[in-house]
Amino acid sequence: MNLFYKNLTIWLIIGLTAILVLNLFKGQPETVNVLTYSDFVDKVKNGVVTNFSLHKTSATWTNSNGERFRAAIPEDPAAVQPFIDAGAKFEIIPSSEPHWFLRIVLSWSPLLILAAIWFFFIRKGRNQDGKAMAFGKSKAQLFDCQQSTVRFKDVAGIDEAKEELVEIVDFLKDPTKFTEAGARIPTGVLLYGEPGTGKTLLAKAIAGEAGVTFFSISGSNFVEMYVGIGASRVRDLFAEGKKKAPCIIFIDEIDAVGRHRSSGATGGNDEREQTLNQLLVEMDGFEVNDQVIIVAATNRLDILDQALLRPGRFDRQVLVPLPDVLGREQILKVHARKIKAATDIDWKMVAKSTPGFSGAELANMINEAALMVARRGGEVTISDLEIAKDKVMMGAERRSMIITVEEKRITAYHEVGHALVAWMLPGADPVHKVSIVPRGKALGLTMQLPETEKHSHSYTYLFNNLCILLGGRVAEELIFDEITTGSGNDIERVNDLARKMVCEWGMSKNIGALVFKASEQPGASRPLVSEETIQEINGEIRALIDTAHDTARQILTDNREIMEAITLVLLEKETINHRDMQAIINPARG
Ligand code: ADP
Ligand code: ZN
Repeated sequence: MNLFYKNLTIWLIIGLTAILVLNLFKGQPETVNVLTYSDFVDKVKNGVVTNFSLHKTSATWTNSNGERFRAAIPEDPAAVQPFIDAGAKFEIIPSSEPHWFLRIVLSWSPLLILAAIWFFFIRKGRNQDGKAMAFGKSKAQLFDCQQSTVRFKDVAGIDEAKEELVEIVDFLKDPTKFTEAGARIPTGVLLYGEPGTGKTLLAKAIAGEAGVTFFSISGSNFVEMYVGIGASRVRDLFAEGKKKAPCIIFIDEIDAVGRHRSSGATGGNDEREQTLNQLLVEMDGFEVNDQVIIVAATNRLDILDQALLRPGRFDRQVLVPLPDVLGREQILKVHARKIKAATDIDWKMVAKSTPGFSGAELANMINEAALMVARRGGEVTISDLEIAKDKVMMGAERRSMIITVEEKRITAYHEVGHALVAWMLPGADPVHKVSIVPRGKALGLTMQLPETEKHSHSYTYLFNNLCILLGGRVAEELIFDEITTGSGNDIERVNDLARKMVCEWGMSKNIGALVFKASEQPGASRPLVSEETIQEINGEIRALIDTAHDTARQILTDNREIMEAITLVLLEKETINHRDMQAIINPARG
């Protein structure tokens, strides 16, 4: 719809410009020499001009060379007397008035053309949407109204979230049980958690289990550039929901509408505020008997307007977390059912090797593997999954990218720098894989895999990470006595991590357990921090990074021969794993 108006505007502008340009050219007269009245009278009297035409107050003639002349003469009929006296011949051209009907048509024609264009586009719009002039009609009504086929069994690994929603399903199925008991079921449920954790899926599952209609709309669709449209969309959406009750109305990305109102610097966004206010009004107007449950999803609970979270609105908040290792195994199995997978795949192992993956990423990984196998034929094997995992995690390999030998050498030392520092630091996550095949934007990668899932990190672990991140840059310094832009991303992460350690987690001795977090709210007043404190903070961050840099340098200097040996193998094989490194570092144990 948005695109449609944009197109319309563009066409209107093109049309108007064309009309303007045409008019400009049409009105352009031929070159005519203009004379004053007195000069003209002289010329007639002297017999220079003997023959002319008169149209109202404008006399025109052509001389013997074919040049055209014009002179304006007074309206007074007496003004032609001198010409009669001089015996000049002149022809009076009557002013031809066009027919009144033609005149009206002509004067209205631009408007008629515009109207025709409008009409044309609106008819087109109607064909697409099934509704003419659907300005304020919610897209939920026009697009996303479905009978959900998703069931709770399709949602895996987030059992706690599921449990909290079971009673909503019961209520939608049989409200009397609840109303008789005098229990009030929440009309608004807010699902919050990282992207891809299955919030949409859960909402669909509620509708599917209860067998009710599922309306869905994204918060960003409410906020259009036309003021008032968002609010009227909300109105229509709720009206439609009530008509089709019992039903679920799902609002994805509610933070697009539900941000803190007037959060300063960006200036009040009237449109968004109006939409939000309308949403609040509609939610307040709900009766429990309406049997409409609003489910909203966001990954930014912290920026939502408090008004949205008040009782009677989204007062049930359900966290949809990233799955743990058990959850991942269950999600993998749910999606594995849909493909042809080898029976000997140990899903527990796969789950272990995918820490931090969201449900969507796991689903994506299985799909990638299935796609690869579809081309080849056969069953998905564990090595297909491994390739698919890397692809989901780091982007597709770019084997065709042209890399000079020198660049490849630098990349190899850089990655081995990361890997070797990680290897040597006790307590760091074990190195899983090192590769110099370019992927996405990266020229190479070093992957570590935690042995167990961690929920909090020690100072030592974080400090080790600083050293590992700096390992790449340090290797370049040692070997080439030169540094490249290849470490840009590493350095950004080092700075980020060190700042958090000092400012958020109270991990520096001199600053202690004070928090200096930059406020997330734009325009919120800045924390009162003195210039000295800022300097002190920066000093601590610098000290932390310097120490980590020295540690990495020490490790790589002490193990330079090993570094050279691993790099040689890496340059040859392009990808090496834990075992390959083991064989070089500890040949006896390998
Ligand atoms: P969100 O709304 O939280 O961003 P979605 O619900 O859109 O995430 O998840 C996208 C896809 O990822 C789903 O369609 C599903 O295939 C898969 N998925 C995510 N979480 C789960 C889960 N817990 N169980 C099974 N599949 C999941
Ligand atoms: Zn690096």
